[in-house]
Amino acid sequence: MEMLMKLAWSFRYGSDAFSSFMRLKFLTKEGSLINYYKPSSVWPGVKKALQEIDTKCQWVIGNGAKIDLWRDCWAGKHSIQKGLNLLDHALKGCTLKLESLIQGPILRCPAHITQLLHLARLSLHDVKKSTDEDYLVWWPDIKGHFSAQDGNSKKMGVTIASKCRHCGAQEESLIHLIWECVFAKEMWNWLAGKFKFRGTFTNMKEAIKLSKNSSPRVVHLWTAAVFRGMTGLWKHRNKIFFQDKAVSKAFC
Ligand SMILES: [Zn+2]
Repeated sequence: MEMLMKLAWSFRYGSDAFSSFMRLKFLTKEGSLINYYKPSSVWPGVKKALQEIDTKCQWVIGNGAKIDLWRDCWAGKHSIQKGLNLLDHALKGCTLKLESLIQGPILRCPAHITQLLHLARLSLHDVKKSTDEDYLVWWPDIKGHFSAQDGNSKKMGVTIASKCRHCGAQEESLIHLIWECVFAKEMWNWLAGKFKFRGTFTNMKEAIKLSKNSSPRVVHLWTAAVFRGMTGLWKHRNKIFFQDKAVSKAFC
């Protein structure tokens, strides 16, 4: 469960490429969780963990850009949606972000929204405002860090460091992780060596092209190896990220 909670947290609030990808895949345009089944073995567990997180967190409002007026908790312990018992489809098309109610450091709620809050048993008195970016706090830890029991989860705050855990480079992106990172390059060099190719490619297309003069069997094997390498690097990253494992090629 611990790992699923972390995964759910990064799914909801992470700013890395994988989190964005997962959000595209599993959230509706309006930001509700999808209800139909997508073929992903982690989804049911992540969904449960997401619901758990959603009932235990509140946004501290910075510029409001990340905060959904209807679906997020920002004026107490539940969202307006929850407080008013609104089903997802009732909010179809409602995508207002708090951003539009913010003027400089101040949140200005028009009367009808204040009334809505009241009906939803929420109150502007419970709003937490900051001058930084929006971030999420884990009830009752108002200071602002995700506090699961494992004690080393500071990194799970919304400001997840986007440092590459393989090489320590500052920006972790999918492209870095899979093609540019020293760790990835070593893996590719090794793999290409097995096929007597040179590991000088910097993306999937280039990699696959290396086998263009080979026999169909080698093309097939090489293509499979490239895919396997890419997913291996991704899984390795998650092992390190979510389970605090040390970098090791054994996971790839
Ligand atoms: Zn790296």
